[in-house]
Amino acid sequence: MLLLFILFAKLGITWDEFIGMGRTNPDDHGERFCMSTFACNTCQEVNGVSMLHGWVSQKMFAPIWKGYYPEENHVGYVTNGVHLPTWVATGWLTNIYEKYLDPAFMSDQSNEARWQGIYNCPDDELWKTRLLMKKNLTFYLEKQFSATWLKRQNDPSRITKLAQHFNPNALIIGFCRRFATYKRAHLLFTDLNRLSQIVNNPERPVIFLFAGKAHPADGAGQGLIKRIFEISQLDEFQGKVVFVEDYDFLLARRLVSGVDIWMNTPTRPMEASGTSGEKAEMNGVVNLSVKDGWWLEGYREGAGWALTEKRTYQNQEYQDRLDAATIYGLLENEIIPLYYNKDKNGISKGWLKVVRNSIAQIAPHYTMKRQLDDYYEKFYNKEAKRFKEIAKDNYKLAKDIAQWKEVVAERWDAISMVSCSWDFPATGAETGQKYHLQYVINEQGLEDAVGLEKVDIYTDKNGEERIFHVEPLKLTGRDGNNYTFEAELAPQQSGNYRSAVRMYPKNKNLPHRQDFCYVRWLELPDLK
Ligand SMILES: *Cc1c(COP(=O)(O)O)cnc(C)c1O
Repeated sequence: MLLLFILFAKLGITWDEFIGMGRTNPDDHGERFCMSTFACNTCQEVNGVSMLHGWVSQKMFAPIWKGYYPEENHVGYVTNGVHLPTWVATGWLTNIYEKYLDPAFMSDQSNEARWQGIYNCPDDELWKTRLLMKKNLTFYLEKQFSATWLKRQNDPSRITKLAQHFNPNALIIGFCRRFATYKRAHLLFTDLNRLSQIVNNPERPVIFLFAGKAHPADGAGQGLIKRIFEISQLDEFQGKVVFVEDYDFLLARRLVSGVDIWMNTPTRPMEASGTSGEKAEMNGVVNLSVKDGWWLEGYREGAGWALTEKRTYQNQEYQDRLDAATIYGLLENEIIPLYYNKDKNGISKGWLKVVRNSIAQIAPHYTMKRQLDDYYEKFYNKEAKRFKEIAKDNYKLAKDIAQWKEVVAERWDAISMVSCSWDFPATGAETGQKYHLQYVINEQGLEDAVGLEKVDIYTDKNGEERIFHVEPLKLTGRDGNNYTFEAELAPQQSGNYRSAVRMYPKNKNLPHRQDFCYVRWLELPDLK
């Protein structure tokens, strides 16, 4: 605490100002300090970890940057990726990638062309190596389960029964993640009879592996684990629905390479990115997921399975039931038949096609290499360049900007509109006609410090206001403190939109508008 006060003194701010930086409305003393808001207010750049998460964040944090619409603010995105050398199984790397991919693939992972060699890998080798990965996992699980069983002094007949069920030739589906409730691990258990029929077909055995931890304070998540464990103990699900304990980095590594399908069923749009599915992808494991987080971008037809990103029901229970039915249907009608459609050598060519497609078309785009490339391109290079500029001559530019901001902030409320005029007819603007708009602003001694722009706004089908078009007004004259701004407007489109003019502090040295977020909406002629 004492340290904080010393820090504030050094920064020249008070406790109140500090707390205000963590609020959407800094002066609202009833609002609680929020770490994310504080970060948004103190960082020059902000990004989500997938395209969808970027958009969700734009909307979520829009109230911080008053005067701008969510789609205008500077929040961007870089989709998360995973570190290939960490997550690819050694056997898979040596047997498949080192033999069939372009030798330069490791140093140029984000280049799809380097991965196309996977299409030259023969069926039997691909199938054999997948089976080897699965055997490594089932062998490990048998050992684990025997050890736990012995430790707990449980019935020895059950362990032999369980162990012989860990059949590496079965279709193995993994659902392994933190048991946060939005991940909906319960979805699969919506209809236990249907699930029992799926897993108990002796011709086409299916094993579901569950693993994961819940946050100690998340009672619902803990309850979910308990429920899955109980189901896994029922006679009909013994060895078919398996809960694997102690989900950690090492177990995750075994699971993402040792199953056939990686399943993820989050409530849309709650999955920011999700990275475990990307780990699976680079091991020849295919994804079955809701199009949320990374999978909305990652999914390619014929390279995995996706549940639509669109919500059908507002009611979550109905949505859950629909999603569960979709998953059962996909398993029964597509996934299981495809996996078991084997030729005389016991190989499913159809399955391997999906595996090859997913490796060639999806995996290259979700590596750490691609993620870093994106960060450099979208943020780091730009920031490094800017840092050099503002730091030059003992931080001259930084000091100039700070001083300019101080003066503008001080006079902002005093800036006044002297006049505004327009020549739209009272009956409304018509397409094809030209109109003229003029504003005179008294900048109260500031030197050309404001900009004006006309903003067209429409209401989308969800009833939300959206930006349709932004047109800057030109500075056309100055008389003392009075600045004249004009625009020549030629409406291209008639239709259901409103227009308004807004004023903002103008300085080409600002990184973006939200960096100094003063906006004032001005009186405007009615365009209709
Ligand atoms: C990758 C990983 C995660 C993250 O998985 P998500 O599916 O993104 O939630 C969590 N825990 C472990 C141990 C992991 O390896």
